[in-house]
Amino acid sequence: MNPIFSPSLHIQRHQFVIDFVRKNKPKQVADLGCGEGKLLKQLKFHRNIELLVGVDSNGAKIKKMRHRLAPLSTDYLQPTYDQLRVELYQGSVTQRDGRLRRFDLVTSIELIEHLTLTDLECFASVVFGYMIPASVIVSTPNSEFNALLPGLTGFRHSDHKFEWNRSEFRSWALKVCLDYGYEVEFTGVGEAPQDQQESIGFCSQIGVFHRLQGNDHCSVLHGSDVEEVFAYTLVYSVNYPSLHDSNTLRKVLVSEVLHWAEHLKNRWMKEKTGRTNDVLPHRQTEQGALEELLSESHTPTSCTETLDCPVDYCDRGDVEEQEGAGLLWANDPQQQSGTLNRYVLVPLAVLWSCCPKIGELSGSLENLRHLLMDHPQVKLTQDGSSLLVKCEEQDPDQVDGGLEDDEDFRAVQRSHRAEPEEDWEANV
Ligand code: SAM
Repeated sequence: MNPIFSPSLHIQRHQFVIDFVRKNKPKQVADLGCGEGKLLKQLKFHRNIELLVGVDSNGAKIKKMRHRLAPLSTDYLQPTYDQLRVELYQGSVTQRDGRLRRFDLVTSIELIEHLTLTDLECFASVVFGYMIPASVIVSTPNSEFNALLPGLTGFRHSDHKFEWNRSEFRSWALKVCLDYGYEVEFTGVGEAPQDQQESIGFCSQIGVFHRLQGNDHCSVLHGSDVEEVFAYTLVYSVNYPSLHDSNTLRKVLVSEVLHWAEHLKNRWMKEKTGRTNDVLPHRQTEQGALEELLSESHTPTSCTETLDCPVDYCDRGDVEEQEGAGLLWANDPQQQSGTLNRYVLVPLAVLWSCCPKIGELSGSLENLRHLLMDHPQVKLTQDGSSLLVKCEEQDPDQVDGGLEDDEDFRAVQRSHRAEPEEDWEANV
């Protein structure tokens, strides 16, 4: 039936809701009779929505849609400040549930025609009289259009209990408005040929209801204990990762800091010694990072910016003038015998200046220090001013025969064996 429309009729109905959401920016949205969640799946990408709820009486459909609404890997790897919670309930729209009250928007797309007329009365009382959302979008077939649907005899679907013409839908909608304090606009999707548009109307007719200002029918009708009813079964719920959550923010920040510190260290070592040290890469593949994140055991990486902060920035006047601003060599004071753990000190001030995202996430240098302090993946100097970034673990003999041969390296060691490094060692 649908192929006579392009895009198909169900896509046009969902697009109607999406356009409404774009324009009106509701924060709490519930889709009643959500089926397999195709509309919800699209709505979850709308940043203004903070709570997205789906309800359907068919438990199998609800279970099937869970994977559609689960966060994607990018939601974990690059969380934003947006907050989104998704909840899916199995339940009937003829029953009240206090968790769905006072939403900004409730949608009922091609649902009411599946209800008996008795259930339709309950639906009106539950949705308009009890949930009292600010707006409601109801779509239902327009029976006047059926004559244009090729090969159709009877209703459009075997489960339909009725199909209304425009006048019948209008009467029902206006009565709802009168009973529960709403106003309604009529429109639709799926246009008839131009010369029949007026006489036939849209294939799917739509009523957009708005609660009238000052309308508080609910408390009058149902008393003060309305919040207590929980008739629906919660089948699935998820909070999307958000930078408003301090754990998520810290994970992203640490990942960013480790990545940039490693990068700065490598650039600096290359410049000073002609060598790089890629032995301990902090940046991981996306898949690896995701797996660790999902296991909650490790911090994901999220930085995708081009690494264009030149290391000589760290030696430039504006940074170098700050005490201890440049990168330095340091040896591990808790060094195990047989190995030489060498570190590069990367001042937090340098990280803060080099990477805008670190500044954005932490807000201030002091806060950055605070957020990194005691994190198991981060080693700070005792005064908390610099990050210790490990170089490869070297056997001392190898170091002697390798790096020590390097004139540049020795020059760097000499030049940095001055006060800051000793200060650090004394502190530790
Ligand atoms: N709204 C979806 C869409 O636009 O694709 C699905 C519409 S489908 C034609 C109607 C849905 O309403 C079905 O998923 C059905 O299980 C659900 N439904 C029927 N009666 C219901 C009731 N009393 N309470 C909740 N959902 C119901």
